[in-house]
Amino acid sequence: MRVLILGGTTEASELAQLLAGDNRFQPTLSLAGRTTSPKPQPIPTRIGGFGGIAGLEAWLRDNDIAAVVDATHPYAAQISAHAVAACQTLSLPLASIVRPPWMRADDDRWIDVDTAQAAAAALGAEPARVFLSLGRLELAAFSAAPQHHYIARTIDAAGDVPLPPDISFVYDRGPFDEAKEETFLRRERIQAIVSKNSGGPATYPKIAAACRLQIPVVMIARPDKPRGVPLDGARDALRWLEGLSAHDVGSISRRGV
Ligand code: NAP
Repeated sequence: MRVLILGGTTEASELAQLLAGDNRFQPTLSLAGRTTSPKPQPIPTRIGGFGGIAGLEAWLRDNDIAAVVDATHPYAAQISAHAVAACQTLSLPLASIVRPPWMRADDDRWIDVDTAQAAAAALGAEPARVFLSLGRLELAAFSAAPQHHYIARTIDAAGDVPLPPDISFVYDRGPFDEAKEETFLRRERIQAIVSKNSGGPATYPKIAAACRLQIPVVMIARPDKPRGVPLDGARDALRWLEGLSAHDVGSISRRGV
C-alpha cells in the first residue's frame, strides 16, 4: 500500500521508523524544505512544496497513493488544508496526527496572542531581553518592536528574512532539557519569551523553566487546522494504516478515480 506521510515533525519521523522495512507499506515522507539539512530518514523522502492543491493532487495520482497521513506541525495549517481538499477530490483516506497543546499551569505567566505581530506589540514599550523561540520566517514581525534585544533560537540562519536591529542567534534543533533551558534563560538574562504552543515534550522544557523563573511567555495561538481522521500519534497512525491494508483499500488507479 502506497502511503504519503506529510512530515516535518517528531511524529512523522516516528511513523517513518515504524513503516521502514514493513513490506505491507510503501511510504514516502514529504518535507516542506524549511531546514537546509533535515534529519536522515529510513524511508524515501521528497522535499519541497507540491504547488498548491492541484500540485498535491497531481503528485498523489502520479504516485498512485492509497492513503495520506498528515503529521505536520500544529502551525502548518496551509498544507493540512491542501491535504483535506486533495484527498476529498480523490476520495483518498486521510488521517491527521493531532498533537495536544500544552496546558497552562496555575503559576505559568502566559500572555495569549493570536499572531507574531501581536506578540511583538505585547512585549511593551520598555526595552527588554527577549528570547524568540520561533521559526526563522516569523522573526520579521519583531522589526515593529526595535527597542528590544532579541535572542532567536533557530535551526538555520535567517537568510533574507528582514530582522529587528538588535538580534543575536543560537542555532539548535532540540530536543532541549529543562536544566539547560534554565541555565540559558539565566545566562542570557531573559525577561520574556515568545513561543508557539507546539505541544509535545521536545520543546516544553523552556516553558517549564520559564515558569520556575517566573518569566512571562507570550504564547502565539494555534491556527485552526483542517484535518482528516484524528490520531494520537505514530502508533495510532500505524494501526489506522493496518486497518486500511487489511480491508485492501485500493490506490487511486485501482479505484479508477
Ligand atoms: P504551511 O503554512 O502549512 O505550508 C506552506 C506551504 O509549504 C504549503 O502550501 C506547501 O507548499 C509547503 N509545505 C508545508 N509542509 C509541507 C510538507 N510536509 N511537504 C511538502 N510541502 C509542504 O507550513 P509552513 O510554512 O512550513 O509553516 C507554518 C508554521 O509551521 C510556521 O509557524 C513554522 O514555524 C511551523 N513549522 C513548520 C514545520 C514544517 O516542517 N513545515 C516544522 C515545524 C514548525 P505547496 O502549496 O507548494 O504544496
